[in-house]
Amino acid sequence: MDKNRELFLKAKDLIPGGVNSPVRACKAVGSYPLFLTHGKGAYVWDSNKDKYIDYVCSWGPLILGHSHPRVVSAIQEQAQRALTFGAPTELEIEMAQAIVELMPSIEMIRMVNSGTEATMSALRLARAYTKREKVVKFNGCYHGHVDSLLVEAGSGVATFGIPGCPGVPDSFAGTTISLPYNDLSKVEALFRDRGDQIAAVIVEPIAGNMGVVLPERGFLEGLRELTRRYDSLLIFDEVITGFRVGLGGAQGFFKIDPDITCLGKIIGGGLPVGAYGGRREIMELVSPEGEVYQAGTLSGNPLAMAAGLETIKILREEDPYPRLASLSKALFEGIGELGEKVGIQITVNYHGSMGTLFFGPGPIRSYEEAKGADSVLFGRFYREMRKRGIYLPPSQFEAWFLSTAHGPEEVDFTLKAAKESFERILKEEE
Ligand SMILES: *Cc1c(COP(=O)(O)O)cnc(C)c1O
Repeated sequence: MDKNRELFLKAKDLIPGGVNSPVRACKAVGSYPLFLTHGKGAYVWDSNKDKYIDYVCSWGPLILGHSHPRVVSAIQEQAQRALTFGAPTELEIEMAQAIVELMPSIEMIRMVNSGTEATMSALRLARAYTKREKVVKFNGCYHGHVDSLLVEAGSGVATFGIPGCPGVPDSFAGTTISLPYNDLSKVEALFRDRGDQIAAVIVEPIAGNMGVVLPERGFLEGLRELTRRYDSLLIFDEVITGFRVGLGGAQGFFKIDPDITCLGKIIGGGLPVGAYGGRREIMELVSPEGEVYQAGTLSGNPLAMAAGLETIKILREEDPYPRLASLSKALFEGIGELGEKVGIQITVNYHGSMGTLFFGPGPIRSYEEAKGADSVLFGRFYREMRKRGIYLPPSQFEAWFLSTAHGPEEVDFTLKAAKESFERILKEEE
């Protein structure tokens, strides 16, 4: 008996869909989730004691792989001292200092407990600062499950093909205008028409939640210029890209300074975290310095700060980004080429250690184009790979992540599994 399936049946009776976050369900790939028991480096083990190479990496936070010894010690040492106070600690200053040093657009930062809280708070702040209501987002971008941002959203919302979300009042959804990613002319037209109503444009500077989609040259620059011209704010949602594409995030890579930045995932080192920060004159509106209320019992809690700080410290010491990029090139392009050899067309989108293989023709520059990918074929590939010990995100519209614990050996093993999977799929079609 498959223990994973057994646990899934039990879980479904107690937890909606058997999962505490929809993206973990394997519905979209015609399967059921693995119930994992432990992880080490690039590997995870399921309830049958089967071992997998992990390309989910907890959806991004684990850039150092599972249970990095230094991160685990940092958490253990902190746990001996205290779990939480609900009072300030020096660790919070160290965290703020590290982020402010590495991301010059951020002069002040506030810690929260999830990426969702970060984007929700950033929008409240942007609306207060500009005294405007409307927010522009892009189709296929996901910014957490904030009511007003679940419009044409990515991640699980895209995977399950949900256009809006029941329970979100029209009046909330109506404050959001969602436009196609990479289509600057539509943004220009909108600003010409009602630029004076737009509080902010929020964007994933490299999209990771419709699968990986890169910004075309001029798109982010154009957003920066337009928001500045119309006195509206530019918010970069770097919850994935922060410390993933480099120490300075996507803003460092593209050399664009947003007004507000949202962070999460990696800065918690595997513990729950989020943060939003930006220019001083904007951040000074946040309570109790200003009047924009935002709070959290466990915000900046010592365990998450210790894990996040140790993670950032290791990233600064090791600068693993060039090595991650070449490993990721070998992986993504390698699988793309294997597909091409056997006549399975794959569009390979990746940047640094995040990437997606879209089954179908490219280029893929937007959610509209991503939706053209063959999710059924991806589902078959997913199931074949899982049988061969490769744990992928269970959706065509998600990013795969590599960690510093992944190496050429894991990539070779994965390429071999991909080759066998393609052969198996083609054989079934005969
Ligand atoms: C994961 C994610 C979020 C939400 O973060 P949670 O911690 O899951 O609430 C927001 N924005 C982006 C870009 C994300 O990838």
